[in-house]
Amino acid sequence: MFSLQLTEEQTDLRDWVHGFAADVVRPAAHEWDEREETPWPIIQEAAKIGLYGYETLANLQADPTGLSIPIFNEELFWGDGGIGLAIMGTGLAAAGIFAAGTTEQVIEWVPQCFGSVTEPKVGAFCSSEPEAGSDVSAMRTRAVYDEKTDEWVLNGLKAWATNGSVASVFVIQAVVDKNLGSRGQAAFVVPVGTKGLDVAKKLKKHGLRASNTADVFLDEVRIPGANLLGGKEKLDAKLARAREGKKGGGQAAMATFELTRPAVASMAVGIARAAYEYALEYAKGRVVFGRPIIENQAIAFMLADIKTEIDAARLLVWRAAWMAKAGVPFAAAEGSMSKLKAGRVAVWSTERAIQILGGVGYTRDYPVERMHRDAKIFDIFEGTEQIQQLVIARAISGVQIR
Ligand SMILES: Cc1cc2nc3c(=O)[nH]c(=O)nc-3n(C[C@H](O)[C@H](O)[C@H](O)COP(=O)(O)OP(=O)(O)OC[C@H]3O[C@@H](n4cnc5c(N)ncnc54)[C@H](O)[C@@H]3O)c2cc1C
Repeated sequence: MFSLQLTEEQTDLRDWVHGFAADVVRPAAHEWDEREETPWPIIQEAAKIGLYGYETLANLQADPTGLSIPIFNEELFWGDGGIGLAIMGTGLAAAGIFAAGTTEQVIEWVPQCFGSVTEPKVGAFCSSEPEAGSDVSAMRTRAVYDEKTDEWVLNGLKAWATNGSVASVFVIQAVVDKNLGSRGQAAFVVPVGTKGLDVAKKLKKHGLRASNTADVFLDEVRIPGANLLGGKEKLDAKLARAREGKKGGGQAAMATFELTRPAVASMAVGIARAAYEYALEYAKGRVVFGRPIIENQAIAFMLADIKTEIDAARLLVWRAAWMAKAGVPFAAAEGSMSKLKAGRVAVWSTERAIQILGGVGYTRDYPVERMHRDAKIFDIFEGTEQIQQLVIARAISGVQIR
């Protein structure tokens, strides 16, 4: 049977997160955007009601339809993108651990990423480098195994890490065999306070300003052998396969992105919907030439198009989320499709919302300009617009398009 009807559990989840987004997140959005700081009190509020934490994530992941995470993200980011990412950025680090770690490592490290209700913490996933953003195979951060001490020694510079200067746990992607390109990489867990791990001041950004982004330095960082995600035996087997030119294993960073693209796309859908709803209400109330502006087809049709695009983006997200959960391979890069579409729709819808509001839409007294600034990142992180196109084009053509 095919159905797009949400279950009672899913509608309850949606309404619960929406309540938090409307009552706690949205009212605080402007303040934290201006402060450009991690909104710890809001993260704590989220933890208190069970909306932030290991169990929350585990429950969301347990949904056999795969839709709970997109539903959760859409509602939270409807509240605000910056605060939304401050809350959900840890999910990327957790996804890195889930993707590459053993069950023991998941149980040990994922709860540490989130901390406790009284003392919430955040995690950071560090793949990008100044010379390795889109091109993950250009990564330079090295991890060398010291057999004598059963330790890994990490050296390098990670760029753009979400939660970079406030994280308690860092999931670091590093090169263990540079001759194998992206197949010679592995993921490591480094707790804050480890000697040689240093974080830079947070970056000043265009949008998502309540979410911390910073560079992370690794200078002779020594971590126990047990902090290699997946373990040494699995890594050695993967490297051996790669050296023999056999398929399989894949890249740790890429495995994480596969898991997280539809989830990230749903964040963009939430921002787009927030701008759409705001613009719709505004258009009904704003009177120009003696009538509400929505009575003009030019405005009403714009809103009709925005709504149609948002619903189309959400359907692509739900399809990809369902496929990922059901184990249906992304034969045409459906995860990338969802991210490509949702990012574009978010940028376009929020820009149109500014247009519908006119002059006030361009000011910081109204939320749509913030939504527009926040939306732009969805064309950039987790694979840029062009990288999604590249992945889709390769998948549909079988040609190694560049
Ligand atoms: C706010 C923010 C948060 C982030 N959070 C994280 C994080 O938590 N962890 C993390 O690891 N990284 C994170 N990133 C990094 C992000 O993933 C990268 O910025 C992104 O992957 C793009 O890499 P780049 O910036 O090096 O751009 P580049 O790779 O230099 O790309 C520049 C331009 O060239 C285009 N381009 C590149 N190659 C091709 C090609 N083959 N064909 C066509 N066009 C191409 C790109 O699409 C882009 O338009 C974050 C970035 C930002 C801004």
